[in-house]
Amino acid sequence: MCVGNHDQLRALVGGQERESKILDDIEVVTQARNTLEAVHLVQLGARTALVCQLTGLTKKVVSRLYPLLTGMPSPPGQVPFTDTWYLKSNQRMLHANVVWRLYQHLEKIGRSTSSVLIHVYETYSAIMDAPLLTLTRAFFVPRLIAINAWYEQSCDHCGISYIGPLGNDGSTCPACTEYFKRRCRSCGTSIEYRPAGRWKATCTGCQEQQKLNKKRHTCGVAHGCPKI
Ligand SMILES: [Zn+2]
Ligand SMILES: [Zn+2]
Repeated sequence: MCVGNHDQLRALVGGQERESKILDDIEVVTQARNTLEAVHLVQLGARTALVCQLTGLTKKVVSRLYPLLTGMPSPPGQVPFTDTWYLKSNQRMLHANVVWRLYQHLEKIGRSTSSVLIHVYETYSAIMDAPLLTLTRAFFVPRLIAINAWYEQSCDHCGISYIGPLGNDGSTCPACTEYFKRRCRSCGTSIEYRPAGRWKATCTGCQEQQKLNKKRHTCGVAHGCPKI
């Protein structure tokens, strides 16, 4: 083999070794970043299944992190897959909307799904006095839109955009839904709030007026009905 070929071969092998070293370094950095994010997620209360899903670390590794960081094993349970829990109260829906807004603002900052979630949940916990959503439930909020369970829509009453399932009877945001539990939808008068059972949509005065209007309309359709 001539000298020129030796040099080319040495350069080729040297190049491959450098490339291999760079790839090893990248792997080390990626592993370190994933582990740091896993630590952060565990400290914020994420369960093992979610930490594994977001960071790619094995269940064995994450399960070992838990007692080291919290002194306790990971709480059991999976990531939620329905919106039942959120729909049980307007307060939960309001908190879900806060989380969704934060996602919209912060998803450009994070470099990975884990880091976006960490940014969102830390900010959510800082601005709400008593956060209702755990980190797992905050993670599931944008998924509800992705799977077409919830949609971004505009409230018929106050005009703000919010997320939630599509209603059968127009669009009412969680804040307006809460407001109308205690106020007449027609005139705004305060009405008695009944936490249990079905609440009244309108006050007694508006109900009477509606009945009268209905009667007038029915009589107007029939010929010869005297005016009420
Ligand atoms: Zn509204
Ligand atoms: Zn009224």
